[in-house]
Amino acid sequence: MDTPKLYSLPKLEYDYNALAPIISEDLLKLHHDKHHAAYVNGANAILQKMDKARADGIDFDTKATFKDLSFHIGGHLLHSLFWQNLAPQDKDGGGNPSKTIAKVIEEEYGSVDRFKKIFSQAAVSVEGSGWAALTFCKKTNRPIIMQVEKHNTNVYPMFRILMVLDVWEHAYYLDYKNDRAKFVEAFWTIVDWTEVNKRLEDLLNG
Ligand code: MN
Repeated sequence: MDTPKLYSLPKLEYDYNALAPIISEDLLKLHHDKHHAAYVNGANAILQKMDKARADGIDFDTKATFKDLSFHIGGHLLHSLFWQNLAPQDKDGGGNPSKTIAKVIEEEYGSVDRFKKIFSQAAVSVEGSGWAALTFCKKTNRPIIMQVEKHNTNVYPMFRILMVLDVWEHAYYLDYKNDRAKFVEAFWTIVDWTEVNKRLEDLLNG
């Protein structure tokens, strides 16, 4: 097989300054080019170490390696989803959901406002570094909020991620200092509901 079989850092679909003042240009650049890139490079380094072990016919520390691999792949995939469910305010960012996602949220949570409150509480209360995600379970046809610690703990296998919010300190410290709640509140003004709805409809129609 000639293809590299490694991960690559996706380009953002908007300029580094496009989410300001909610996320400053400096913060977005640092977050994408340094932090996200580190997970891509970390995952690739582990895969290459495993390739080398096979080529050299040697063993590797399976437990530590797979734990590390889960962390880095989780970090890469969650960041990729995160960038895509954000949009500048003069494009699709902010506002309220409509179409299928609005219907599903209202049915499960009673109202969009109540959903936002619960999701925000989930994001603010993630223990240590982590993420809040809105997922969808096809077995029960319910949206379910997932509170991820680090990049890979408390993950529901197979639940599609519709929307995700990074609440690692590196996601907000430069602009919000230690005020995670303020960053979470600001997130609602740049969330891309069109993308969130598309992910849900793709899942339901897939
Ligand atoms: Mn991050």
